[in-house]
Amino acid sequence: MFVDIAKISIKAGDGGAGAVSFHREKYVASGGPDGGDGGRGGDVVFQADTNLSTLADFRYKRKYAAKNGNAGMSGRKNGRKAEDLIVRVPMGTLIKDAETGRIIADISTKEPVVVARGGKGGWGNSHFATPTRQTPRFARPGTPGEEFEVQLELKLLADVGLVGFPNVGKSTLLSVVSEAKPEIADYHFTTITPKLGVVTAQSGNSFVMADIPGLIEGAWEGVGLGHRFLRHVERCRMIIHIVDVAGSEGRDPKEDFRIINEELKKFNEELAKLPMLVAGNKCDLATDEQIADFREFVEAQGYEFFPIMAAIRYDVDPLLAKTVELLSTLPPVTIYEAEPVPQVDLESLNSKEVKVTNCDGVYFVEGKWLLRLMQSVNFDDYESLNYFQNVLIQSGVIDALRDAGIEEGDTVSIYDVQFDFVD
Ligand code: GDP
Ligand code: MG
Repeated sequence: MFVDIAKISIKAGDGGAGAVSFHREKYVASGGPDGGDGGRGGDVVFQADTNLSTLADFRYKRKYAAKNGNAGMSGRKNGRKAEDLIVRVPMGTLIKDAETGRIIADISTKEPVVVARGGKGGWGNSHFATPTRQTPRFARPGTPGEEFEVQLELKLLADVGLVGFPNVGKSTLLSVVSEAKPEIADYHFTTITPKLGVVTAQSGNSFVMADIPGLIEGAWEGVGLGHRFLRHVERCRMIIHIVDVAGSEGRDPKEDFRIINEELKKFNEELAKLPMLVAGNKCDLATDEQIADFREFVEAQGYEFFPIMAAIRYDVDPLLAKTVELLSTLPPVTIYEAEPVPQVDLESLNSKEVKVTNCDGVYFVEGKWLLRLMQSVNFDDYESLNYFQNVLIQSGVIDALRDAGIEEGDTVSIYDVQFDFVD
């Protein structure tokens, strides 16, 4: 079975804990704090692997976790950063947030993409020493790594999509014009895995052609195989629509042509608008009249028609030449942009829980929602910072700090951000 959708959970590593430690030497009564920081947790990174063509691996293994960062040590030694976890996926895999459907990444180049960020290491106690607090007996735990479920969707990267009824010769055409070896057989639905092939036309120009399993009527409603596979045409720049012009299985080629176009439109209006060339296959089985009649039929609708015999590669070159010409005028294959992370809704923050802990004048603020908020705020940006301050006020964090007894000049520590409290 061809697996082109999968849902997995990913977890980046937690940051390592900071250390509480004091410098010790023989005969030295008590040294200063020297606890090192924790190391960063590993990221979960996705990268394209051109040897993969399906998401089948993700059916069996559904949990992917990067390692945690190491804890800090005495002598101001920081914990080691954990290695990133690289998850290999086929080229053309879309990664979506399973909960919201937001597009996180489109793995359509060889560039690795960080999808879940590892937590930061906690500070060791050496950070917390001040003239008035010479022996801080506390350090910070690391922040947790990001953790969520993602939906993986393979959308093949091809310039040209072959569509048509089962058995019209799509796989045969791909096999005679490229190195691809799709299954070819005289029965329906032999092609259950879309196949890609690199086609080089006589001019030397090449392009990628995708053999999509046969579409049948009702495909868009999920009847038969077609529907799932139409997704793989969505990125294509153009379509070659193949028809059995001889109607060799007792079908009507005109009716077939109409039905397939209808299916494309029902699945996605945009698909139906893609430029399309029409190839009339199995001309060896057709009469001249049949061919001329069908030509007239498609040309009347404004399509260019190419009679071919795919099985013996007869008259295929004019079709390829026209394809190259057309492609040169078309925009590149669609790459999906990552969608922005929505900002946390201020309104929904009224009753968010926070925990405030006072350690010797440092007020630590914790809360799961706060961590999420922090991950979406850019602290180098004035407006983002303003927004963050607003959230702290509206969500009751500032009140909670006052309740805990904070005073002007005390330190506030919210995960990896520290600032002085100003009343
Ligand atoms: P697909 O389902 O559209 O991929 O069709 P296939 O490529 O598997 O071909 C279906 C059948 O049609 C196979 O038995 C092919 O050998 C046959 N076929 C393909 N091209 C031609 C052709 O030009 N002439 C004839 N007579 N048969 C062909
Ligand atoms: Mg086939």
